[in-house]
Amino acid sequence: MTGLMTGKRGLIMGVANNHSIAWGISKALAAQGAELAFTFQGEALGKRVKPLAAELGSDFLLPCDVEDIASVDAVIDAIKERWGKLDFIVHAIGFSDKNELKGLYADTSRDNFSRTMVISCFSFTEIAKRAAELMDEGGSMLTLTYGGSMRVMPNYNVMGVAKAALEASVRYLAADYGVRGIRVNAISAGPIRTLAGAGISDARAMLSWQQKNSPLRRTVTIDDVGSSALYLLSDLSRGVTGEIHYVDSGYNITSMPALDALRT
Ligand code: NAD
Repeated sequence: MTGLMTGKRGLIMGVANNHSIAWGISKALAAQGAELAFTFQGEALGKRVKPLAAELGSDFLLPCDVEDIASVDAVIDAIKERWGKLDFIVHAIGFSDKNELKGLYADTSRDNFSRTMVISCFSFTEIAKRAAELMDEGGSMLTLTYGGSMRVMPNYNVMGVAKAALEASVRYLAADYGVRGIRVNAISAGPIRTLAGAGISDARAMLSWQQKNSPLRRTVTIDDVGSSALYLLSDLSRGVTGEIHYVDSGYNITSMPALDALRT
């Protein structure tokens, strides 16, 4: 199947490098004809994102730090001026102080709790509200979450709490915007080696556990996430909104370690 995204224009937020989940999604969308704009957080990352965007035929790059709402407004203004409309957005942004992604959740500081919530959760609501104004003909919005929202994962701590709030936001935004033909969904990805993923203590152990104990007996890749994102951002999923779609080799359905893993 080709050309699923032909004529569609979308904003990708969260490419840091070619290991980013947002990059896997971008490649899948561009291969189906989507036209993409990219945000980058700070000049250093901008230098990495520019050639990646060029690989997919885009020269539309915009600086954005979601802690600075003026920079979010500037992104929306720039898109309005150049494209006049938006068909989809991808929010693949998360942050928490790595010193608090270990040890006890109970030790989370007030400052880091607020910052984690604003960057990893509330930014999606702020961006969705602005992007919706450019989606007169309907659209699709996607964010990224992790199973640490539903069940306790060692060291994920405050990020798990922020992801739970993000998933609830997906449902509320889907209800808000459904009447306007705008769909809002999330992908809950299994652990992947990325910059953000490396901030979580013992990330390697989580990857190995998932590989040994998920039904598919492997970890997922950014291309696995990209393919599922393509479905959620294209008209193939036109009847789907408010969903948390797991792309985790089935790990979320398990209730105990795999017997073969226990025996080795
Ligand atoms: P990544 O480090 O490649 O991407 C994280 C992105 O967030 C970066 O591009 C960074 O610039 C951006 N970001 C952080 N703070 C920001 C701010 N203040 N303003 C603007 N951008 C900011 O890592 P990734 O793993 O691709 O993360 C993408 C998303 O996927 C995150 O929401 C993450 O929580 C989620 N996720 C990751 C995994 C995993 O195992 N890697 C699993 C499930 C979900």
